[in-house]
Amino acid sequence: MVAIKDIQGRMVLDSRGFPTIEADCTLEDGSCGTALVPSGASTGEAEAIELRDGGRSWNGKGVEKALENLRSEIAPLLVGCDALDQQRIDRRLCEADGTANKSRYGANAILAASMATCRAAAISCGLPLYRYIGGPSSVRLPIPLLNVINGGAHADNDVDVQEFMLAPTGFEDFPTALRAGVEVYHTLKKRLREKGMVTAVGDEGGFAPDFDSDELVLEELSSAIYESGYTVGHDQQFTFALDVAASELFRDGKYHLGASNEPMTTEQMIDHWVDLANRFPFTSIEDGLDEEDWNGWSSLTSRLPGTRLVGDDLFATNPERISRGVKEGAGNALLVKLNQIGTVSETLEAIRVASDAGFRIIISHRSGETEDDLIADLAVATGAGWIKTGAPCRSERNAKYNRLLRIHEQLGSSAQLGPLKF
Ligand code: PGA
Ligand code: ZN
Repeated sequence: MVAIKDIQGRMVLDSRGFPTIEADCTLEDGSCGTALVPSGASTGEAEAIELRDGGRSWNGKGVEKALENLRSEIAPLLVGCDALDQQRIDRRLCEADGTANKSRYGANAILAASMATCRAAAISCGLPLYRYIGGPSSVRLPIPLLNVINGGAHADNDVDVQEFMLAPTGFEDFPTALRAGVEVYHTLKKRLREKGMVTAVGDEGGFAPDFDSDELVLEELSSAIYESGYTVGHDQQFTFALDVAASELFRDGKYHLGASNEPMTTEQMIDHWVDLANRFPFTSIEDGLDEEDWNGWSSLTSRLPGTRLVGDDLFATNPERISRGVKEGAGNALLVKLNQIGTVSETLEAIRVASDAGFRIIISHRSGETEDDLIADLAVATGAGWIKTGAPCRSERNAKYNRLLRIHEQLGSSAQLGPLKF
């Protein structure tokens, strides 16, 4: 038992320049853990609520109310509790908040306390965070999914799909996979520049030029991979991953892709992704349909048996929604975002429920990020095998890649790459 002595919160800025919460958790033995919470743009309806002040200050994005909750409700609740008992800490937080979506204290305030406590406990035990959470078998580094072309809600271009990712699936170890991804990223930049295309980046560090179609983006990425001296295809060095973020495209029962195109039905959307998956090697497609289009998801999942269908907005890292997906055959992979559910323990529970069903697990950043690198440790701790944390550009993204490089070095010859089972 190591009792919590104090929890302090403060406002800091995230990567988009919006306020977010940083918390310090100090224990009786002097250990102190600090954590910062991220923030999404294409947030799902089923996510836990991020408490914002509204009004004019900070354009409505202030976090004073959440900080006040941290100060006057959360800290007194946790002081004296055993920091090594993360489950109990998180249960106390959920029970005291008392709402299904953490709207009373705010998931931003709750998660900051939960993560900071976890960090402080690891420090108190003298263990790296991945080891503290995952135990001695935490040796598996994730394959990075590098989001190199940004569209949708993350960029001001006319690309509808939110993320086009490089998946370096055919490499031996994490540093080599990362290096290959970085090389392709820089080749891509050179190619875009030569064509007179925009090389400014979006929120997650990927380039954000205009493209006329999904196919043209994927052809450009294939060319950049070959020009870098690598191969692309199933069982080759690179495959692709998409995040459509289709809930952002869904209005009045139809999907609106391309300003000049007719809106599409669920069936037409499914045909579109099946057709694209027949022509390009996808390891996964995330949120290909709206977050409440459960029947469509079941149909898409059965029509693309060779591709992982990842639920982000669909599952919202919520064990109940994941269980529904398992029952209905809607999706077969989970995107994991701590702030969608709001505590470390519930996140681990969501991963367990999904893993038990044979789902692929992808640990994820948010589009609004910070220098906090806890998700890198979480990926290793859970042996997830996959991480999605943007392009190798912008330090809030590279903080996670750099942490994984350090973990790889620490693990030495024990380090492994990727999931146990593809
Ligand atoms: P978000 O985007 O953080 O804006 O929700 C990331 C994603 O959709 O995966
Ligand atoms: Zn997503």
